Amino acid sequence: MLSTMQDAPLSIADLLKHGSRLHADREVVTWTGSEPRRRSYGEVGKRAAQLAHALRGLGVTGDQRVGTFMWNNAEHLEAYLAIPSMGAVLHTLNIRLFPEQLVYVANHGEDHVIIVDGSLVPLLNKPLAELKTVRHVVVSGGDPAAVEAPEGVQVHSYEELLAGQPTEFDWPEIDERSAAAMCYTSGTTGDPKGVAYSHRSIWLHSMQVCMSDSMRLSDTDTTLVIVPQFHAMSWGVPYAAFMVGASLVMPDRFLQPGPIAEILAAEKPTHAAAVPAIWQGLLLHLEDNPQDISHLREVVVGGSAAPPSMMHAFEERHDVPVLHAWGMTETSPLGSVARPPRGTTGEEAWGYRYTQGRFPAAVRARLIDDDGNEVPWDGESVGELEVSGPWIAGAYHKDSDPEKFRDGWLRTGDVGKITPNGYLTLTDRSKDVIKSGGEWISSVDLENQVMAHEAVTEAAVVGVPDEKWDERPLVAVVVKEGQSVTAEELREFLRGKVAKWQLPEHWTFVPEVPKTSVGKFDKKRIRAAHAEGKLD
Ligand code: ADP
Repeated sequence: MLSTMQDAPLSIADLLKHGSRLHADREVVTWTGSEPRRRSYGEVGKRAAQLAHALRGLGVTGDQRVGTFMWNNAEHLEAYLAIPSMGAVLHTLNIRLFPEQLVYVANHGEDHVIIVDGSLVPLLNKPLAELKTVRHVVVSGGDPAAVEAPEGVQVHSYEELLAGQPTEFDWPEIDERSAAAMCYTSGTTGDPKGVAYSHRSIWLHSMQVCMSDSMRLSDTDTTLVIVPQFHAMSWGVPYAAFMVGASLVMPDRFLQPGPIAEILAAEKPTHAAAVPAIWQGLLLHLEDNPQDISHLREVVVGGSAAPPSMMHAFEERHDVPVLHAWGMTETSPLGSVARPPRGTTGEEAWGYRYTQGRFPAAVRARLIDDDGNEVPWDGESVGELEVSGPWIAGAYHKDSDPEKFRDGWLRTGDVGKITPNGYLTLTDRSKDVIKSGGEWISSVDLENQVMAHEAVTEAAVVGVPDEKWDERPLVAVVVKEGQSVTAEELREFLRGKVAKWQLPEHWTFVPEVPKTSVGKFDKKRIRAAHAEGKLD
């Protein structure tokens, strides 16, 4: 029997119309280093319509890709709304990619237009001549004359293109399964892979972001979006905010701890999201520059494991709870969120909060062992996590990559265990697990333990070749300014906290742990530096 319900497609255009009408007075604030730029959602809606007219004027039709090479700011939000709503596909380009990677993703995605922030033009100039499908570059907040345009590429000013365009657009009806936006994985192994989100997947994911067992975003929030708009769509926060009328604070290029602290003081957001390295930096900054940040009702940490010591520091020193979440570019990215089950308190609740969290109803999960068999959710059995669901990728753009998909499930490459009530604990990424004497050592576990030492700011652990044991852990440690600690002292600190055979014998002290383009520990670079003899 067919249902009697209307078959209304879920579309970004409806989200745009809804947010700019019912939440017209909500704001997107863009940090500029001086007077912030403030724009209401009503204005954003009008400017998104103007941008859509402007892009049509440049010949953007059908599902052509429009790339953005931008920081988090109001104009990037306008692009988020206008491009999918007009039926085109938003392609967020990672501004921290090497020029060759950028050439690969822009050519592979076949970007027709690129919108670039003025401050990023020098970075785009390098690969521009090799971007084969690009016909137009639109410069936002900068001098179009700075673009070194190759023949056949026209350059425009964003504001001039918008000026005088109608503030309404007749948004087309679009199949909800069509691509709305795409994002490439950062290519830690091999070429980056394109994930194309649909209108439907973005819509459903945005609703999940707002659910109370998830990020709980609502009309009462002002959210500081530190996670870049090119990193898994800022974890879905901009669309979700527009859906429910949470105001947005965009840091633009001001991502150092000092400016972040200034933004917090000025705008007093209630919510924020970023990878652990950002929060770790802010914590250190606040040690020397105390400031009340308790206006934050919660901060979300994901992208790599949140060190428990950091979660405690936020809560106990600053009265700000940290919510740990797991996800991937391929999972839109919300995969699991660590809210403890009702009735739990104290240590028991913390135990749940350290995990990567529980899956929402729409995300199906299973653990698969080396022989391809499913392992039970008993809180002990370990396997590779596979997930499926309406906002999980089922393939890559123009690349079926059979290695990454099994019977319609996404193989995450993450290894872990799940409790009977559905809480996931990741031990590692499969390529980062340290195989020592036939046993596995979790690099994440060791990192968390070392980072709990008061003299340590950051610690990254990688496996390095060992003749006898196959691999042994190497710990790269960043010591807090003004403090000192030796490898022997750290080993002593770990004694009793980890199994004796796991105690690392290789330590190196570094001024900074190298980071990937999205701010995670770059273990590939640490391993390479060790192999080249550049580390102890
Ligand atoms: P990249 O592959 O470049 O790191 P993604 O952001 O898509 O880009 O990375 C997803 C991966 O990040 C996951 O597969 C997992 O290994 C790691 N990750 C994300 N969140 C967490 C978390 N809370 N704890 C541990 N690892 C995480």
